[in-house]
This record gives sequence, structure tokens and C-alpha cells, in this order.
Amino acid sequence: MDGLQTGRVFRRFVILGVISACAQQQVTTSPRTTATSSAISVQDLTSRLYAYADDSMMGRESGTVGNVMATSYLAAEARRLGLEPGGDNGSYFQEIRSTSTRFSPGSVPGSARNVVAVIRGSDPVLRNEYVAIGAHNDHVGIRRPAIDHDSLKALNKELTRLGAPFWDRSIPASRRAAARAEVRLNIDSLRRIRPARLDSINNGADDDGSGTVAVLEIAEAIAASPVKPKRSILLVWHTAEEKGLLGAKWFTENPTVPRSAIVAQLNMDMVGRGGAADITGGGPDYLQVVGSRRVSTELGDIVDQMNRARPRPFRLDYQYDANGHPERIYCRSDHYMYARYGIPVTFFTTGLHAEYHQVTDEAQYIDYEHLQRVADFVHDVAVHVANLDHRPRVDRPVGDPGAVCVQ
Ligand SMILES: [Zn+2]
Repeated sequence: MDGLQTGRVFRRFVILGVISACAQQQVTTSPRTTATSSAISVQDLTSRLYAYADDSMMGRESGTVGNVMATSYLAAEARRLGLEPGGDNGSYFQEIRSTSTRFSPGSVPGSARNVVAVIRGSDPVLRNEYVAIGAHNDHVGIRRPAIDHDSLKALNKELTRLGAPFWDRSIPASRRAAARAEVRLNIDSLRRIRPARLDSINNGADDDGSGTVAVLEIAEAIAASPVKPKRSILLVWHTAEEKGLLGAKWFTENPTVPRSAIVAQLNMDMVGRGGAADITGGGPDYLQVVGSRRVSTELGDIVDQMNRARPRPFRLDYQYDANGHPERIYCRSDHYMYARYGIPVTFFTTGLHAEYHQVTDEAQYIDYEHLQRVADFVHDVAVHVANLDHRPRVDRPVGDPGAVCVQ
């Protein structure tokens, strides 16, 4: 999720035990991914995400070597799964060039690139159309100065316990003071067991490691299925989402398949949390849906119908899709760049939480079963849309693609 476009600053009212030493000690150590099965499984999502959100990826910021490593991993996986390259010059990569002031790719070659792959459809005509599934491959890089992981974790827990959403500005001062005392208590007892653990890596396990590995798992499942969907499946792991949706902007302005042939885009960004401790109203069946009727009422209806038909439906939360919602979620992830061209979209997310854009967004805090069920659902919607005898009907007005997004 892109935090920069909101124009709002998250207020962190207390950080205890912050140690601004220059050490950049790594807190997580993780296994590398190995073999995977064709099913969308908790095991595969876990091994993939521990690898993808590992400290060695250095926060995957576009413009840095971390983004080269992350995208190299994705391309290697796409090759291993037998996906067709969908990027430039027969490769899996589409390098983006941007003049945005937020973006300084520096001298690292290929340090900001989309990863693009295709699973060819089975119908001789419909295979020329595409259902796009996306996530973003980048995150926000290194945090300077380093911070004590456990202090931050304790603070985040306390912020969430305040009841109101953690970004709520209305938390009273007295409540804040109580929270501060609570955090200090936790840290004091923790310090008797172990010293401070400095952490400087924004691992982005949820944002958007979760969506990224979900796309891989969906691709693996479809690539292994004996009967392919009628339409082709277009997989795009966008870069520079955190810089202002720049990878998705680049891809939709320089598409590697005809833009008019993309019949829908399903986006996943932060799909690995959403528990009761993460967000108001959260729980194991919690899922936010945003934008699904903003271009095509039919696509929104399909998402709802398919959810109701599941053995264990999600509790879909549409409140963040409301016109004028202050969080502007519809404008803050890659799907918007497709929607502005009249491509029906749906954005799936388990929502913001206290670990958002913090060094504590790590693989150990992901709910892998929740993530598995979201990936499974998006897989089913994608295959259903890819097998429709018509494209999802566009029945909402499409504005100027260059205009500023308004939710
Ligand atoms: Zn983000």
C-alpha cells in the first residue's frame, strides 16, 4: 500500500527503547524457498514469504539492489513454473523509467522493474484477451536509524489495543500516557530476558510480500491445471508502488499486451493480516474489497456471488470503498492505474494495521491460513472471469486517465 499519496503523516506518539546506533543488526533469519506444490498451500506461502521478506532483500525498495534481488527471485520462480515471459524483449522484466522526484534509481541497473508473465488461454479466440492478476514487488527499504524491534512491536500492540484504529487522531492524551506506561512495563520485563534487538529492515511481509507470493501461488496452480482457462492470465508484479504506483502507471501506459485486451485486473496488496488484533472488525473471515463496482457492476456482482457460494465465505468489508473515505484506499494501490483506463478492477486487502510500513512487518506475524484463503478466492474469481463468454460489462463512466484519482 502506498502511504505517500494520502498527504497525511502517521503520528507515532511514543517510541521507547529506540536506539539510534549505526549498527544495522538483522533480527530475522529465515529459510530459503525450496520445492513447492501446485496447490495454493499454507506451506508454500510460508516458505515463499519467508524468502521474499527476508532481511537479505533489504526492504526491496525500487531503485536499489534489493529490488533487483526481489525481481530476480520472481523471474526465477516464473521460469521454474513454466510461465511465458511477458516483459520486454522476451524477458520477464519491464524496466520502468520515471521522472518522479520520489524516484532516484541511481546506478543500479534494472533496479526498478515490473515482472510480467503470461499463462496462455485454451480458447483459440479468447486467449487473445487477458485477466490480469497483480501485486507490488517493492517495499520501502531500509529504516534509518535502526530501531529496537521489540519496543516497536510492544508499541504497535498497545496502539491496536486502544480500540480506535491506530491511525485515529482522536486518541486522548490520558489514554496515550497509559499506553506509554504499558509499553514500558512490557519492555522492562523483556529486557530481563534479552537485550535490545536493533532492526533496520522494512521487510514488507504483508506489504506486499503477501500479495506477491499469493500471485505466485495462483500462477503455479493455474499453470499446473490440466484444463487452462479460456482467456490468458496476465501476471504483473509491479515495482515502485510505494513511490506512487509508478510501476503500474508505467505498465498501463506501456503495456506489453494490448491494453484493450485486458478484461479485468485483480489486485492484492496486504492480504496476510486482518485479524481481530489487527483491525476493528477483523477476524479469520475478514476481507476488504475496494473498487469492484467502480468500473463494472457486473464484476462486483461476480465477486459477491462467488464469495457467497464458497463453503466458508469471507465477511466482505466494503466500508473503505465509500466515496470520499479519508483513507482513499481506492487511489492507493496499483489497480487504480488500470481502472483509470476503464478496465474493471477489484482490490482485495485484509487492511491496514499497526505494523504498516514498520520494521515489524515481518513474515513471522503473517496469518498464513488467512492468506491462503484469500489467494484461493482470487484464483477462483480470476478463473471464472477468464472463462466467461463475454467480458465484464463496463457500465460506469470512465474519466480522464491523467486526472488525479478521486475516491
Ligand atoms: Zn506500502
